Amino acid sequence: MFTRRLSSLMILILMLATILSACAPATTEAPAVATEPPAAATEETAAATEAPAAATEAPVEITDTELNLLCTPQEQWCQGMKQEFEAKYGITVNYVRMSSGEALARVLAEKDNPQFDIWWGGPIDSFVAAKQEGVLEPYESPNFANLIDPVKMKDVDNQWVGIYVGTLGFATNTDWLAANPGVEAPTSWDDLLKPEFTGQVMVAHPSSSGTSYTALATVLQIRGEEAGWEYLKQYDAQMAQYTKSGAAPAKFVGQGEAAVGIVFSHDIVNEIENNKMPLKLTFPEEGTGYEIGGMAMLKGVKNIQAAKLWYDWALTPEAQALGPTYGAFQAPTVEGVELSHPELLEVNLIDYDFIWAGEHKQEFIDKFTNEIAGAENLKE
Ligand code: PLP
Repeated sequence: MFTRRLSSLMILILMLATILSACAPATTEAPAVATEPPAAATEETAAATEAPAAATEAPVEITDTELNLLCTPQEQWCQGMKQEFEAKYGITVNYVRMSSGEALARVLAEKDNPQFDIWWGGPIDSFVAAKQEGVLEPYESPNFANLIDPVKMKDVDNQWVGIYVGTLGFATNTDWLAANPGVEAPTSWDDLLKPEFTGQVMVAHPSSSGTSYTALATVLQIRGEEAGWEYLKQYDAQMAQYTKSGAAPAKFVGQGEAAVGIVFSHDIVNEIENNKMPLKLTFPEEGTGYEIGGMAMLKGVKNIQAAKLWYDWALTPEAQALGPTYGAFQAPTVEGVELSHPELLEVNLIDYDFIWAGEHKQEFIDKFTNEIAGAENLKE
């Protein structure tokens, strides 16, 4: 758990990236998978709602007209995927955007009367925690065959699956660096504790944010629990303010409200490239954590045909290649997609233990909230 090595998963993704960039045209071709919609899907006939089915099976008529989606990524990506799915399948997507911790609390609270069919996005630690509570519905998608690393990217009981991969980084305001000569952007977890960063660090609160929980679990895995909790106390003393959403510190740091944010690197890239924020991206050299973004069907799912369509579609290269169009620069979990930013994976990654992190999630969040920093007055 404490090893600081590039995981086999990342090596595999990078190898694929290299191969794919060497034969670029192939990257845009979707494999002939069972979830491709029928050719007639765009015609104004009942065929538009036919289920994807293997060529030898008779098409199943889709009667669902709606899908209720719990969406954890950024608003822009949620909105984009809703529109793409609606245009492709003619099924209305009603989504609510919530950070990981809020989403987990919501699915647990609605255990006996679930309001969502699919939960899409956010680190899989929360999906592991949800599985423990018995709120996920197993589903064996035919498109599991597309996964780059089915062992790591899928639950053994088919209760969740990975839909993207992202690494944690630091975002430092370059105007602030210019105004503080001699101060360098942090390149280690220890750098965050330097006096020049006191009151200048921003991260989300782990109770609401999967990003922040990934940072917490990363520190505990790198340092061990005892030293890790000691570090987290010191880290708390450096905070300007905790935010509710994981990506928000990149925006606030870009606006000059603090000097350094701890955020997933793809969200930092989004702020730099799409919002022209004055940010420098760095990584902790001794190792950083990463997420596999998850997806699950919820127990009690009401629109099961629509839910299967979404689930299968989200595991196609075609759907995963849409991310950069909507400001989402995560790496894909399926084969056949060119990486928009392979350099975000070319960093020193710890061998992050998702199952351990998920199974201890509530315990660690309670400890952080009770002993280090409460979750009142989170910045929105
Ligand atoms: N948005 C993006 C783009 C992400 O990569 C992630 C992490 O999975 C999230 C949102 C999760 O948000 P939060 O940290 O607020 O739970």
